[in-house]
Amino acid sequence: MIRVGLTGGIASGKSTVSRFLHERGAEIIDADLIAREVVAPGTHGLKSIVETFGEEFLAPDGTLNRAKLGELVFSDGEARQALNAVVHPLVRARSAELIDHLPADSIVVEDIPLLAVGKMADRFDLVVVIEATPENQVARMVRDRDMTEDEACARLKSQASNAERRAVADVLIVNNGSAEELAAQLDKLWLRLEQMRTEDVRVEG
Ligand code: ATP
Repeated sequence: MIRVGLTGGIASGKSTVSRFLHERGAEIIDADLIAREVVAPGTHGLKSIVETFGEEFLAPDGTLNRAKLGELVFSDGEARQALNAVVHPLVRARSAELIDHLPADSIVVEDIPLLAVGKMADRFDLVVVIEATPENQVARMVRDRDMTEDEACARLKSQASNAERRAVADVLIVNNGSAEELAAQLDKLWLRLEQMRTEDVRVEG
């Protein structure tokens, strides 16, 4: 199995890259999706969050009020750490469980926005960082997500910088151009991953 960690800033193109690699045959593990799953109604995750933050973070239908919790952790570092202490181990355990059920010769791509901040690079055979200029990230958020430029800039500022992510990159994908330019970089990446898998199978065999 080849394990790839994929990360990048907000609206840098992680989902676009995941989709492309999935079309080529990669198995995708999406940390954001799993982070929602582990705090769904009826889970231990949701129970822990309510114990930590209070019932006022539940919506009337019993689901997590993500917007309200998001506002709190966006502005309060301690609350962010407390939330991460609940959610991160659950995401890690669920990801491991999903990966355990995949075929042994899979190329597994884990899309983890916080890979660099969480110092997780050591877990992977290859860390791929996708990067766009802050101007492009903001423009994409304003264009596609109904955000104002100020909101988009604030989101960007709350995240790790491109330099912090570059520091953990084995492969840097720059996504400031056309879809075709991105695809050309990803074709090269996929060839490299297939080669790694061939070598891995040979060693195992
Ligand atoms: P998030 O951090 O919010 O999960 P992301 O990193 O997964 O975002 P995407 O959703 O893949 O980013 O891309 C953000 C937006 O930019 C999407 O609407 C996508 O279609 C668009 N986009 C991605 N790459 C390009 C590109 N090269 N040119 C123009 N638009 C692009």
